[in-house]
Amino acid sequence: MNIRMAQVQRAAAKHVWSQTINGNAAAALSCFQVVNPATGRVFVDAPDTSPQQLEAAITYARRAQAGWGALSVAERRLYLHRFVESLLSHREELAELITLEQGKPLPRAYDEVDRTALLVKQLMKIELPVEILPGAPGWHVELHHAPLGVVGAVTPWNMPLILSFPKAIHALYTGNTIIIKPSPYTPLTALRVGELSREILPPGVFNVVSGGNDLGQWMTEHPGLDKISFTGSVPTGKRVLSSAAGTLKRVTLELGGNDAAIVLDDADPRAIAPALFAASFANSGQVCMAIKRLYVHERIHPDVCDELANLCRSARIGDGFEEGVDLGPLQNEVQYRFVLELLDDARRAGGHIVGGGAPLERPGFFVTPTIVTGLPDHCSLVQQEPFGPVLPVLSFSDVDEAVSRANDTRFGLCGSVWSADVLRGGEVARRLEVGTAWVNRHMGWHGNVPFGGAKESGFGVECGLEGLKHYTRMQALHMPNIDGSK
Ligand code: NAD
Repeated sequence: MNIRMAQVQRAAAKHVWSQTINGNAAAALSCFQVVNPATGRVFVDAPDTSPQQLEAAITYARRAQAGWGALSVAERRLYLHRFVESLLSHREELAELITLEQGKPLPRAYDEVDRTALLVKQLMKIELPVEILPGAPGWHVELHHAPLGVVGAVTPWNMPLILSFPKAIHALYTGNTIIIKPSPYTPLTALRVGELSREILPPGVFNVVSGGNDLGQWMTEHPGLDKISFTGSVPTGKRVLSSAAGTLKRVTLELGGNDAAIVLDDADPRAIAPALFAASFANSGQVCMAIKRLYVHERIHPDVCDELANLCRSARIGDGFEEGVDLGPLQNEVQYRFVLELLDDARRAGGHIVGGGAPLERPGFFVTPTIVTGLPDHCSLVQQEPFGPVLPVLSFSDVDEAVSRANDTRFGLCGSVWSADVLRGGEVARRLEVGTAWVNRHMGWHGNVPFGGAKESGFGVECGLEGLKHYTRMQALHMPNIDGSK
C-alpha cells in the first residue's frame, strides 16, 4: 500500500467518528463497517444512527429552525461563508478523506473540495427577492418565499462532498435547518464536515447522521421533516417519492442518467478525443452526468474509436494516493461486479472490446477504461447506466436517427453535441430530451444555473434561483393599497 494512503487510513481508523446532533458529538450505539475501495478491505467503523437518535436530531433541528429562519439573509450568509472558509482551511484533510473512502485520485479530490466551495459561493450570491405582482385593482400583491422547516438530505457515494454540502447550503441559506445522511459506503467526509460545523453554526442547525438504507427510509417517511433532497439511483428515487407521499413533504430527486453525446461529421476526432475521454471516464465513469453512450457519425467513427482507445491504453490506473494516477477504483464491490457483468453481456452481444476491458489483477475494485464498438442498441451496456469506466461507441449515418436513438431512453439527465459549427451543434442539442445540454463540452456546473433531470432522471432542480425556491414555500400576500387607490 502507498505510504500516504497507509498514513491517512491509520489516522481515520484511530479517529472516533461521531454523528453531529444539536451541535454536539453523538456517540455511536452501534456501528457499520466501511471498506477502502483500493484494497477491498474494511478499515474503519462508522456510527449507525438509531431511530431514537434520528428522532433527537429531528427534534433539535425543528427547535433550532425558528431562530435560524428569523435571521436576516445577510446574517445567515455570514455564518455560511465562515463555514465554507472552514472547509477550505481543512482542504487537504477533506481531500484525503474523499480519496480514501471514495477512491478518486487525490488531485481530483482537491478539485471536489474547491468546486464545492466555488459552487456554494456562487449560490449565495443569488438573492431571493419579494416579487410584486399585478393583482386585482386596488390590491397590492407580494410573493414571499419562506423556509420550509427541516430538510433531510440523502446522498450517494460517488462524490461525498459536492453532492451533500451544497444541499445544506441551499437549505440553510433559505432559512431551513438540515439533517444530512451520506451513503453508507462513504460516510466519513460528511461526518467530518459535521464536526467542523460544531465550531461555527448554532446548535441544531446542521446535523449529520449516518447509516444504511433503512435510515434513509425513516427520514423520508418521518412527519418531522418538511423536505427530502435526494441524490441517487432511479429505483431508490422512486421509493423515496412513494414513502414521502404519506406526509406530502416536498421532494427533490437528482437521479441517474445514461447521457448520450452525439459527434457530428464535421468534428475533428483528434481535437475532441481528450475532452470526450475526460467526460466519459472521470471518476472512473462514476459521475451522474458522464457520457455513457457515444454516437459518432460513421465517416469519423473509426478515427474517434482509435483516439479513444489510445487514451484508454495510456491512462494510468491505481490507488488514488499514487502519484500520476488518472483513474482510481470503482467505489464498491456491487458496482464493480455490475460493470463486469455489463462487459460480459456486451461480449455476448457481439461487441468488440477496444482498449481495457478487464479487471486489474490486484486487490480492490479496479477496472481498466474500456470502449466497446459494434453493439446493438438493445444491449444492456447501451440501455442501462453503467456508472463505471466502460463506454459504448455507436455509429450513425443521419442526424435525425442519432437524435432519436439518443432520446430512446427513460433517462433524461444531460447530453451533448460535438461539431465544428457551434450553431448547428446547438440546434441538434436543443432536440435532446434532457435537463442540461452542452455543445462541444459535457459536464460542468455553475451555482447560477438550475440543474435537474428530465424524464426519470429527476424531479425538481437544484442551483440557481429555481433551485433555491425549491427549498421554500411560496406565500402570495394580498393587501389593499394603503393609499386607497383602485
Ligand atoms: P442509491 O440510490 O443506491 O443510494 C443513494 C442514497 O439513498 C444512499 O444514501 C442510500 O443509503 C439511500 N437509500 C437507499 N434506499 C433508500 C430508501 N428506500 N429510502 C431512502 N434512502 C435510501 O444510489 P448510489 O448507488 O449511492 O448512487 C449512484 C446513483 O446516483 C447513480 O444512479 C447516479 O447516476 C446517481 N447520481 C445522480 C446525481 C444527480 O445529480 N442526478 C448525482 C450523483 C449520482
